[in-house]
Amino acid sequence: MGSCGCSTRTLIFALFGPPGCGKGTQATMIKERLGYVHVSTGDMFRNAIARQDPIALQMQEYMKRGDLVPDEIIRDMLQVELGALLAQSQRPKGIILDGFPRTLKQADLLGEIMVKLKLQFTGVISLEVPEEMLVQRLLKRGTGRPDDKEDVIRERMKVYYEKTRPLEEYYAKHNALNTINGVGTIEEIFERITPVVRSWETNSPC
Ligand code: AMP
Repeated sequence: MGSCGCSTRTLIFALFGPPGCGKGTQATMIKERLGYVHVSTGDMFRNAIARQDPIALQMQEYMKRGDLVPDEIIRDMLQVELGALLAQSQRPKGIILDGFPRTLKQADLLGEIMVKLKLQFTGVISLEVPEEMLVQRLLKRGTGRPDDKEDVIRERMKVYYEKTRPLEEYYAKHNALNTINGVGTIEEIFERITPVVRSWETNSPC
């Protein structure tokens, strides 16, 4: 609990950007160097499939074709994950949301989760990378992910521009959007992200 009586000590922000923009890599850097917890809804979903979770298994067709899983399914998974993180005796200093929210509906759902968990959503860091660089990067990535095939990548890209990109405008209207140039070395991009996170830490209410 913060000194002002609220429990907003854990800073929480979202990392945005199209598939292949380097979100996952930067989230790992923020985790390792700034001590944040990385919460990826894609990883949560893949882990749920790996452990044969019945709902995740039912939903895996969405992922295989590059489409989004229904909002409420992901919301429930995220709520459980965040609740567990906050219930730890040592609350995390900060949480990076990677892959959520992805639709306007999810932005609303995130607001509801924040109220329930008594957290305050800080804002969004969006990595900008030209579209033509993205597909090539993803194909080179060679993760073996079933959704890293060219036709599925193109579908994921389409879904991103149709459903997720409009969220930038939404967060810009709320003065919560920070756009970062996502072209450069991993270190260079991390150097651009760090001051934004540091300024949030400085201005955090508790
Ligand atoms: P990612 O690893 O973030 O690219 O996510 C991989 C896949 O998991 C997506 O293509 C979706 O099928 C599913 N997924 C992850 N996060 C979400 C989300 N916030 N909303 C809906 N589906 C999601």
